[in-house]
Order: sequence, then C-alpha cells, then structure tokens
Amino acid sequence: MSLTSVYVHFPWCARKCPYCDFATRGVDPVSIPHEAYADAVIAELAMRADALAGRTLYSVFFGGGTPSLWSGEALGRVLAAIRSAFGAEVPDLEITAECNPSSLDDAKAQAFAAAGVNRLSLGVQSLNDERLRYLGRLHDRKGALRALAAARRAVPRVSGDLMFGMPDQTADALRDEVREMLDQGLDHVSAYALTIEPGTQFGTLLRLGKLRVAREDDYAAMFEVAERAFEDAGLVHYEVSNYARPGQEARHNLHYWRGEAYLGLGAAAVGMLDDAEGAARWTNRKDAERYMASIGEGRLDLEESERLDAQDRIREALMLGLRTSEGVDLRALEARVGLAWTTGRAREVERRMAAGDVVERDGRLFVPRERWLRLDGIVADLF
Ligand code: SF4
Repeated sequence: MSLTSVYVHFPWCARKCPYCDFATRGVDPVSIPHEAYADAVIAELAMRADALAGRTLYSVFFGGGTPSLWSGEALGRVLAAIRSAFGAEVPDLEITAECNPSSLDDAKAQAFAAAGVNRLSLGVQSLNDERLRYLGRLHDRKGALRALAAARRAVPRVSGDLMFGMPDQTADALRDEVREMLDQGLDHVSAYALTIEPGTQFGTLLRLGKLRVAREDDYAAMFEVAERAFEDAGLVHYEVSNYARPGQEARHNLHYWRGEAYLGLGAAAVGMLDDAEGAARWTNRKDAERYMASIGEGRLDLEESERLDAQDRIREALMLGLRTSEGVDLRALEARVGLAWTTGRAREVERRMAAGDVVERDGRLFVPRERWLRLDGIVADLF
C-alpha cells in the first residue's frame, strides 16, 4: 500500500496580492473557464493513471490561487474523478479547499461540502482593516468573520491563515488577533511572517524605498508572541508555521513534510512519485492557457522534471521533516532511499548535534522548538 496525496492547483485569483509570488494570475472572475479547466485536470489525471496503480489515496488538497472561485460542480467533478482513479482510499479521507473570504459565502461553502470537501482553509491573513488594506486584500474584517462563520457551518474542520510582521503591528495586537481567530472556532492556524519577495509589487516598492516594513528583529519577537498565544489556547506548534489542536493537524501537509508521494494536477502543480528506480519530480506548465492547450492536444507540457537520487531525497526529507515537531523518521527514510542518511554529511551532523541544534531520539531526528528561528541555517549545513 503506497499512500499518495493529490494536489490540484487552481491558477486564478480575483486580484493579485502585492506580496504574492505564487503561480497565480489576477483575472475578472467572470472570465474563469470553470468547466474547461476541470476537463483539462481530469484529462491530465487520465494521462497519469498508470502511475497510480496499487496506490491508496491519502488526502486531496485544492490549492492556488483561489479555488473558492471555482464552481462547486466543476470542483466536484474533479474530486470524483480523483477518487475513482485510485483503487483504494484511507478512511475519513481529508479533502481540503483553500478559500478567500471574498469568494466564500454560505452557498459556495455548502456546494464544496456537497462535493465532498470536509476541510476549508481560509486566507484570512488579518482581522484588522488597516493591515488588510496594507496587504492589498479584497476582504475586510467583517468579510473575514462572515466567511469563517460560513465555513464552520459547512464543514467539520476549518483552518485560517494569519500573517504577522507588518509595520507598526505590536505584540499586543498580534496576541489579540490570535485570540480572535481562535474565538471563531478554528482548530488549525497557519501563521506566516510577511516576507518581501523580488518580482512582486511589494518587492519593487521596497527597492524604490516606497514600502514600510517591519524591522528584522521584530519578526523573531512576533514569532515568539504568536507561539505563546497559540500554545496558551491549547494549540500545538507542530510545524514552523502551523498550529493545531491535537488531532487536527493538516494530514495533507504532514504527508508532504514526511517526504511521501504526491500527484500534482493542474497548471503549475508539482508532483513527486516514487517508482521502482527511485523517484521523479515534475512541475506542470505554469501558464494556465498553455497548460490547457497542451492537455487538449493529449500532451503533458512541463516546466521541468527531474529524477531524484538517494541524496536528493535525503536532502528533501531533512529540509521538510526538520520543519516539524515530529522530525524525520530516519529508519523509514533509509528504507525508502537505500542509503545511510549521514552519508556525505557525518561531520556536520556531529557538529550540529554537539551544539544541540539537532537531536536524535527514538530513531527520529528533529530540531528543538526553541531553535526553529535558526532552522534555515541548521538545515543548510546538513545539505
Ligand atoms: S489571494 Fe492568495 S494566491 Fe491569490 S494573489 Fe493573493 S496571496 Fe496570492
């Protein structure tokens, strides 16, 4: 039984946010080709069907972009095709759709639930109107609260994204926002620091000296404030940017962080499937129109594809697994790739272990929680 998750990318948003570097384009929602895009994703799934033989479906995630702009019927058709393409699925299959408050009302939430979605993840980002304006979001505080309530009425599990590290955001304000998010009945929150990426509108404004940003030191302080506020409320910090009530962790993301197999479908989707010789990873064509055109011609058009050798897979497992509190299952990793995980990095491992930056316990390797702020440097050393 090879557990495999499916990620479906929805490549459009109602407007491109100024800080966003995801593979998505802002369009007028009336121009979205709901059924044609669903047809393309289903056709891609059929082209990849051979690779699914003997696999068990572990989770499904509709991400983007803004999947809540997709019609419930179109998303439902894709979901049904995915479930029937697998010979088996785990009980209580987790099916998540990412939503934006500006495109999630009761009707949409209920339509997704009727299609089989049982977890909604909302891009709330903030419950403060001033910060939402700074982020260039389409919704305000009222809209976020309305969408969260609609989500809760429709599905049993709701997650919210929260962004911190905006200029002038105080520790008290962040603490209040965390509490207010949790008051809405969320069992899971993804809390991200705002980062300014080159190639985004914010990146350009920063280069021109026209964007106010928080000081570097403030990020670390805010990370700790957020952690304390979530933990005081009973949520567990189970991944660098993710908090959950016990048992409510995102199974789809955990599967990914564990380095397990996933099929990516849709424009810009990334997939990684193990096979008899190791594993392959690919990225679909990012441009949605080109993606649909190539599928229409019966071709899989890729941005890139690569074979992953044992070292690639070890690096990937360390990079992803060390972001989580459960860490990396070293025995499972070695069994999967057929190579000792310390090969080529024994000295760095010894040095980091001596410094207490990484710990091995019961066959698992992890970075202690209090060192997560230095995670990038630690992981880079083990590459
Ligand atoms: S809604 Fe999300 S995916 Fe779309 S542009 Fe904004 S941040 Fe990016």
